[in-house]
Amino acid sequence: MGQADSGYNFKPYGFAMIEVGPSFFIDLTLVTLAALTVGMLLEVLLPVRDGVISIVRWFNNAGLALVTYVCSHLFGTFVAAFILYSAEQGAVLNLTKWPLWLDFTIVFLALELTRYGTHVAMHKVPVLWRFHAVHHADSTVDISTSFRHHPIEAIISTGPLTAVIWLLGSAPEALILYRALDLIMAVMTHTNVNVPARLERWLRYMVVTPAFHRSHHFAEKRFTDSNYGASVPWFDYLFSTYQPATLEQQKYASIGLDTHTVNEQRIDSMLFAPFAEPLKAAPHTKA
Ligand SMILES: [Zn+2]
Repeated sequence: MGQADSGYNFKPYGFAMIEVGPSFFIDLTLVTLAALTVGMLLEVLLPVRDGVISIVRWFNNAGLALVTYVCSHLFGTFVAAFILYSAEQGAVLNLTKWPLWLDFTIVFLALELTRYGTHVAMHKVPVLWRFHAVHHADSTVDISTSFRHHPIEAIISTGPLTAVIWLLGSAPEALILYRALDLIMAVMTHTNVNVPARLERWLRYMVVTPAFHRSHHFAEKRFTDSNYGASVPWFDYLFSTYQPATLEQQKYASIGLDTHTVNEQRIDSMLFAPFAEPLKAAPHTKA
């Protein structure tokens, strides 16, 4: 969108994120590719589940991710324009004037809480679950699951995030730092890796570990409806939505949704699944 009066060079990326600030630059595409590379290496060196490798599954997941990326990029252009306009007008709280570390801390906590709340809503509100179920219908979890989201889910999620960003009026540097971290964590939390137990025990107090998030993908409902955190697990601990799983369960528990057939693994079926009647992606009832 070119150079703005504020000195920022705004460029939308994914959901309403701004790529270039005046003091530093982060290439978010490179960050994503680096995270995928590290994730892939970990999956080869230290896998937790067997039989995850499937070229057909990867092709379909990557295809859906690409469609979602293009849609949210186009939508993000409008959102970024809105945020640019708001920043120039002066946002409600205007954190831009605060030290970057404080701005980042506030925006990080606010967006993580927003994403936690949105994720809970995706599970509890039937019409939202239709779209989010496409992510959960993956038959196993690895780095290719990271960006397997229905485009409409991505667009819906942008709403609450944009509202919070607009309210806070954070500096683009704080937003880009958050988005870079968020992209790394989106990949890491879906990686099919067996983090050594001693490290995992400590890590899961600070970040959403692959095991913490993998159990969110278990077919058994008490696991699916728990561990909602995106990058940090704190809100699951705070609101009692945390559910631990054993290593045995991490290795062998059934992943995906009972109600989905193999057809919903194809890119075209994934795109149309939320609109199917009767609802194929209904919340499963298995206890
Ligand atoms: Zn979920």
